[in-house]
Amino acid sequence: MTTRILALDDSQLLPAPLRNSLYRLLPIGFALIGIGLSVALGRLDVQRQESELVANASARLSGVRASLEAQLRSAFGETEGIAQLLSADGEISPAHFHDMARQAIASVPYIRHISLGPGDIIADVYPMAGNQSVLGVNYRHLPDQYPLLQRARDIHGPVLAGPVALYQGGRALIYRRPVFIKGRKAVELYWGNVSIVADVDSLLRAAGIDQDSSFELALRGADGKGAAGAMIWGDAKLFEGTAVTLNVDVPGGVWQLAATPRGGWPLLSLFASPLFLFSLSCTGLFSVFIAQLNRSNRLINLRNGELRQSQAQLERLAHFDAVTGLANRVLFGRRLQQALDEPVPALAVLVLDIDGFKQVNDCLGHAMGDLLLELVAWRFTQTLSAHDTLCRLGGDEFAFILHNVRVPGSLQVAVEALSRCLQAPFDLKGNAVLVTGSIGVALCPQHGADGDSLLRHADTAMYAAKESGRNAWREYHPDMTQRVQAQLALERALRRALAHNEFEMWYQPKIDLFSGRLEGAEALLRWRDPEHGLVSPAQFIPLAERSGLIIPLGERVLELVCAQIRRWRDDDLHFGPIAINVAAVQIERSDYVKSLSQALQRHGLPAPVLEVEITESLLMESQQHACEVLARLQQMGIATAVDDFGTGYSSLAYLKSLPIDHLKIDRAFIKDLPGDDSDVAITRAVIDLGHALGFRITAEGIETQEQYQFLRNAGCDQGQGFLIGRPMPAEQFEYWLAEQQAV
Ligand code: C2E
Ligand code: MG
Ligand code: MG
Repeated sequence: MTTRILALDDSQLLPAPLRNSLYRLLPIGFALIGIGLSVALGRLDVQRQESELVANASARLSGVRASLEAQLRSAFGETEGIAQLLSADGEISPAHFHDMARQAIASVPYIRHISLGPGDIIADVYPMAGNQSVLGVNYRHLPDQYPLLQRARDIHGPVLAGPVALYQGGRALIYRRPVFIKGRKAVELYWGNVSIVADVDSLLRAAGIDQDSSFELALRGADGKGAAGAMIWGDAKLFEGTAVTLNVDVPGGVWQLAATPRGGWPLLSLFASPLFLFSLSCTGLFSVFIAQLNRSNRLINLRNGELRQSQAQLERLAHFDAVTGLANRVLFGRRLQQALDEPVPALAVLVLDIDGFKQVNDCLGHAMGDLLLELVAWRFTQTLSAHDTLCRLGGDEFAFILHNVRVPGSLQVAVEALSRCLQAPFDLKGNAVLVTGSIGVALCPQHGADGDSLLRHADTAMYAAKESGRNAWREYHPDMTQRVQAQLALERALRRALAHNEFEMWYQPKIDLFSGRLEGAEALLRWRDPEHGLVSPAQFIPLAERSGLIIPLGERVLELVCAQIRRWRDDDLHFGPIAINVAAVQIERSDYVKSLSQALQRHGLPAPVLEVEITESLLMESQQHACEVLARLQQMGIATAVDDFGTGYSSLAYLKSLPIDHLKIDRAFIKDLPGDDSDVAITRAVIDLGHALGFRITAEGIETQEQYQFLRNAGCDQGQGFLIGRPMPAEQFEYWLAEQQAV
């Protein structure tokens, strides 16, 4: 009976918890991968920067090296002329030597002096001034210098010694150039050396060793010993650390240059890498973007989900009844249409109304009412065959589409099966409840060819079944429609009657049976229809109750009655309370106590001038609320009476618990008195038990002296009937009153 609406999309292929975790992990995963890549990229970038710095340092060192080598070449190359001259000639004149030396010193200012050492003993020096002390110095007696001379001699090439501290002050490099001369048979003979002493600091400065603002430089390798030699320039610590080093070829050996950036190598962290920062920011942005996208996707999914859910809910609400889960009227209409679209449709539409449902709702509450509907629906579904359809039209009304109704008798079997399935009591959480059903049947094609008319006719037939006394089923007949139409016409006429004040009150006297004294009257409504004359309330009250017109009508009754009592009182006519009949609907759907007190107030009347009658059956249908209202009326001083007693199913003991003063024995029990033994027994019992329980007993419909006598003798308190007086218009009632007083 229910329909599941499934809507699947890709996102629903994964279980929801897994999908949610994935949604959460996606941006985190992306961020982690992004950070990893950023770090790798950053590292590469830092390495590149470091290599760049090293390359810069190397380039700088290469520059210094080239410059140093150039300086050394130009400084010491000056002596080549002298050395070659000596090699070629084996001698040089002092003047010539001085001349050549002077030129050399003139072009290379940091050359301090140039000396000639034939046989490794200094024989001449230029300039002589300040250097005389070196003349005659035998290198062989200088152990710190001679080994280098020997080396120069061994390698047949110049060597660079120093820096050495000079006697004259300062530090100097000494360039030793061995000179060989050709001996006999072209044998090379060692002549001695030409030495150049140059100011080391000036030479280094000329090479630009101190001119770098970004790099700190150091030079070591004194005596051309490379890494093994002493420091020549700068801080020795440079060679211990991470400096970039480079060898400088010097005559007869190597020097070593080192460079570090000033202030040390920059500590290149990842954060110094623009690439790292860039890719990290990109990762961040993308992760946030993905998270947002994700969130909005999730939101969209969620929304979509909610929409789907509410769509499904709407779908359910639109087509299914929330209480029973059965199809509702809309879906029923569709299914009926489908069935009618068959080539030769043959079906029965049934409308079933549960009798006595209202009492269950009122006595046990709406939750129990709903439970009853659920249980009833379940029993119906068990009874129906698979292709029949069932729906809840609303309230306690169910509708059915029965197929296979062509076979004679099959409809009756199906309908009776439905009635029968209600017969067993329903267990409403410990309360055993018995209900019956009134069923109306409309057949296709006999009673209609379209869904609307079939349902309408089945409904009309159901009302006919109800009117016939409930727990029955009726097949539709066109007369029923005429009745309904007549009722509709009557309802229209009633509305008009209200608008045109066509209602009046008649009054029927009530007397004390023992004394015969007038004890008041019952106000009975009359409709003076301009077309049909006087209409009895029995004809229009039930319709007024069904249509709700009884509420404005009841207000009119209150007004007419109170206005009449006012007039009588003004005329000094006092004869006991006037009883008003009240329908259960008036008590249920309006604030009857308020209307009543307002009417009394409008006419300046005390409450006890009125009495209220409510029928036993109506009282049973609306117990709780009716009791509250009756109790409030009692408190105001208004007597309450149960009308038509004996027609309902209440027990006297039960009535005792209700706020009731009078019992009015229904005319049905009076009319055959005193001849009918059972009526005699019932009437006596009601009178005796009623008295025992504290009620005042009234007998209605007393038409004969015998009835009167019997009731009087039986102890009935009050009487009302044609014998005493018929219902009369107010004016006539006054005459009757005058006559009575005259007797
Ligand atoms: P009810 O309250 O039981 O009123 C008594 C009915 O019995 C009245 O019928 C009255 O005319 C009739 N009756 C009284 N004595 C005799 C008798 O000796 N023999 C016979 N055969 N009938 C007798 P009526 O006036 O036609 O009213 C019918 C019902 O309509 C009332 O029954 C009452 O239930 C309802 N009714 C009348 N007026 C009102 C009203 O203002 N409001 C409501 N809600 N119902 C009203
Ligand atoms: Mg009455
Ligand atoms: Mg009555």
